[in-house]
Amino acid sequence: MESWNLILFVCEAILYFALMTTLLHLRHRIGLGVFLTALGVMHFVETYLAAVFYVSLPFGVVSPGSSVFFAGKLMMILMLYIQEDASTVRQPIYGLFLGNLVTLAIAQLLVLHQTVEPAPGQAADMGFLSDMGLLMLWGTTLLYIDALGIILLYERLGRFMPRWTILRFTVSGVLVLSFDQLGFYALLNHLYDAPLSVFLGGWKAKMAAAALYSCLFAAYQTAFRGNGALHSRRPIKDVFSDLTFRERYEDLLARTGRDVLTGVYDRSRMEIEVPRLVREALRFGSPISLAIVDVDHFKSINDRFGHLSGDELLREIANALQGGIGDADHLFRYGGEEFVVLFADAGYDEAMERGRRLCALLASGIRNPAGEAVTISLGVAAAPEDGGSFNALLAEADERLYRAKNAGRNRVVGRPDVSNT
Ligand code: GH3
Ligand code: MG
Ligand code: MG
Repeated sequence: MESWNLILFVCEAILYFALMTTLLHLRHRIGLGVFLTALGVMHFVETYLAAVFYVSLPFGVVSPGSSVFFAGKLMMILMLYIQEDASTVRQPIYGLFLGNLVTLAIAQLLVLHQTVEPAPGQAADMGFLSDMGLLMLWGTTLLYIDALGIILLYERLGRFMPRWTILRFTVSGVLVLSFDQLGFYALLNHLYDAPLSVFLGGWKAKMAAAALYSCLFAAYQTAFRGNGALHSRRPIKDVFSDLTFRERYEDLLARTGRDVLTGVYDRSRMEIEVPRLVREALRFGSPISLAIVDVDHFKSINDRFGHLSGDELLREIANALQGGIGDADHLFRYGGEEFVVLFADAGYDEAMERGRRLCALLASGIRNPAGEAVTISLGVAAAPEDGGSFNALLAEADERLYRAKNAGRNRVVGRPDVSNT
């Protein structure tokens, strides 16, 4: 009898996992809402089962609601996080939490009804509704903590063992389900003096479920390896953040304002960002400089090798510049084959030094299709000495670039009294 129940439990877990994973897997074709709604429907069934449906297993009296389906739900939430990102997994976590609170509130009104029997012996079980009091509130809160906890744990474990996805999945499941069992038992014990066997039976069932789901998860990962399933695109702190729209907006902003040919920031982005950065630097008295970069004899590249080769070379040049500037520096495509580099935290001497490094980097690293070195010329200007605003700096740098060209190209030009490379 008990073994038969156990077999049924295992079958239920496999079926639940297989069907829910299918919905999750097909999310790009049928929409994520299908998976999320199914998760919510199963949550209702699970709650009902956990309230009234108990069977005897080899290690105690257990409800499939709390072991198979509750554990399964947490594992599904974790899988959703693994396959998508924090901002997506936030939806079911908040949805289940708030949906539970809505249910609780409605139940408070429902129990006030005088109900009739639709058929003899079919009276509404008001006991179930009444049970949706403290226990359900507590369960709801626990679920919220569990769902966030399992994701945080999974992420934390990733610092120590980034490649061990399955093990992280298992350990997070085991720890969070143990925590959940302990938390729920604490209240049961407090309210009804529930004996320790209630805790142990439920705990063993949840551990068995965590182990089984981990095996199924491993099988799924193995079957669909290399589908890009193992990275999450947005940071974990997103789970807690309420600033989705601002973040999405900034995310969008980070991707717009890019020059389509080279991928570096474009001129419109420069006009928005750089004046502000210059103003702030001046206000705080920190050094800031910029350089205009112009590729030498670029027209001849187009003339000799064609416009497409010119484009390709321009991409290479932009890549080299991007790789050559510091982490805090910014590169913009100003127009044509001209770029602006903003040297953050750099005074005049430092900017000249960084400019020379860029110049040398390009001359040694970039070749045109004929194998000849491609060089750049730079004009450098530093705030506040060379100008108190972005436009003033730009004009000064442009003037110096002109002199760099006249002086023979492949060089950096700064203030007149400073010797040039
Ligand atoms: P120098 O700057 O050394 O005086 O000579 P230059 O030949 O580079 O002269 P200039 O800067 O005036 O000319 C830039 C040329 O770059 C003009 C144009 O044909 C080419 N160019 C501008 N934008 C693009 C682009 O997006 N793709 C390609 N292939 N060529 C471009
Ligand atoms: Mg030019
Ligand atoms: Mg040029």
